[in-house]
Amino acid sequence: MNKLIYTGVIALLALISCTKDDQIVSKLTDQEKSDLIFLRQEEKLAHDVYVYAFKKYGITIFNNISNSEQTHITNMTDLLTKYKIVDPASGLQEGEFADFQLQTLYHQLITKVNISLKDALEAGATIEDLDISDIQSFYKNTTKADIIQVYELLTCGSRNHLRGFTGQLKTLGSSYTPQFLTDGEYQTILSGSHEHCGK
Ligand code: MN
Ligand code: MN
Repeated sequence: MNKLIYTGVIALLALISCTKDDQIVSKLTDQEKSDLIFLRQEEKLAHDVYVYAFKKYGITIFNNISNSEQTHITNMTDLLTKYKIVDPASGLQEGEFADFQLQTLYHQLITKVNISLKDALEAGATIEDLDISDIQSFYKNTTKADIIQVYELLTCGSRNHLRGFTGQLKTLGSSYTPQFLTDGEYQTILSGSHEHCGK
């Protein structure tokens, strides 16, 4: 009899834990899922472009920031794993994207990177400008604390990266004009100082 109760309790626990997992997954809206899938690939876009730019120009900023993007990719894939979403970049090489829009953008950015160091830094600023702007719109699609926490972490990193790229452009006597953020948003970021993200 005891054994029967024990077996019953185990079965019940298994059922509860299974149901709990299913609830976590089903709690995400289609919009939240597509935002996570897109952002995971956008972080890969940033990473892959900076790895390419570092190989071409060998300046530290591209190496440092590509490492930071690798961390952002891990933040995103951790969320995908948690919500049982298939990684859209699984098995893809550097510069390969499942999303057609991002694949096209990657080629455009690489073309720009190839022109000159100044263009490569502008390409970097463009990526960060777009990334912050996209995440700003994704915030509106979720109320989930774990997702918002990752969005904050990624945006914090992007603000540092944007300041980094525009700082380098300044040393070349150049500047960047935002294409996605408003001028006010951009100026607010530039006037801030380096942030310790997630600490
Ligand atoms: Mn990033
Ligand atoms: Mn970045």
